[in-house]
Amino acid sequence: MKALSGLSYFELMRHDITFPLYVEVDEICNLACPASPIHYQSDPVQTTKTSVHGAINMPGLARRVKAKIFQASASEVYGDPHIHPQTESYRGNVSCIGLRSCYDEGKRCAETLFFDYHRQHGLNIKVARIFNTYGPHMHPDDGRVVSNFIIQALRGDPVTIYGDGSQTRSFCYVDDLTEAFIRFMDSPDDFTGPVNLGNPREFTILELAEKIIRLTGSCSEIVFSSLPSDDPKQRQPDIRLAKEKLGWEPEIPLEEGLRRTIKYFDALLAKNKTGLKN
Ligand code: UDP
Ligand code: UDP
Repeated sequence: MKALSGLSYFELMRHDITFPLYVEVDEICNLACPASPIHYQSDPVQTTKTSVHGAINMPGLARRVKAKIFQASASEVYGDPHIHPQTESYRGNVSCIGLRSCYDEGKRCAETLFFDYHRQHGLNIKVARIFNTYGPHMHPDDGRVVSNFIIQALRGDPVTIYGDGSQTRSFCYVDDLTEAFIRFMDSPDDFTGPVNLGNPREFTILELAEKIIRLTGSCSEIVFSSLPSDDPKQRQPDIRLAKEKLGWEPEIPLEEGLRRTIKYFDALLAKNKTGLKN
């Protein structure tokens, strides 16, 4: 943010996209909606509104100013998937009444709106399905697995695995993902997506915990608690489409990304200990 605030053409606005927004812009990236289960489940009605009303107001804005618009969709549109790895043609296995539904169905409906705006109004859309992503500058209270485990390990607190740790995720380092965003926005207009963006290397949550304990040199123990409902058992993106259309694949292996993220949180915790705010 500091790097941008000095630029004369940069303006920061705080706005809730469930309400209309009238601004003049060239391109729009809609990343609105908390992605961490504890955050999006704390106000589930607002979560659905953010995805659904946001996917009317932002395409409405894009339509008026004739802007290209990026939509951050998610691997959650696949729910607890029955096919593995997940390809873009898979239609998913999502509960419409569970704890995760506000996020999952919100993202699904947002995709519907984007594709209808595309077909009905010729809107130039770019829909990406983002898989688990991590890296420096995550909020320490984010609540997702990578930042939770790193902070717990650095503090020497127990590392909390939900369930038995056999569920899997595939983690993408943030720099790899932003590179894909940029390539996608610059790709030909007829490539609308949806396209999976993520790192196809899959790990169990237990493997992740052990890796983080080792890389931090921590003496934390691992504790197991109950698995939240509808927690997907496995997740791995099939990224052949992104490779073919964007010439992209992730470059940062999990260990390297974790080292960089651990370094960030280590410095942050040290700063907070000396009484400075982050
Ligand atoms: N909208 C907005 N900014 C704009 C244009 C539209 O926030 O610059 C919102 C507005 O609330 C509108 C919605 O986007 O109702 C959908 O716009 P669209 O053009 O699809 O339909 P409208 O409702 O205007 O017929
Ligand atoms: N998880 C965990 N301990 C934590 C946080 C998450 O075991 O402290 C598990 C969670 O149950 C899920 C996986 O790690 O199986 C990934 O969770 P996260 O909230 O990061 O994202 P999700 O992919 O579930 O949206």
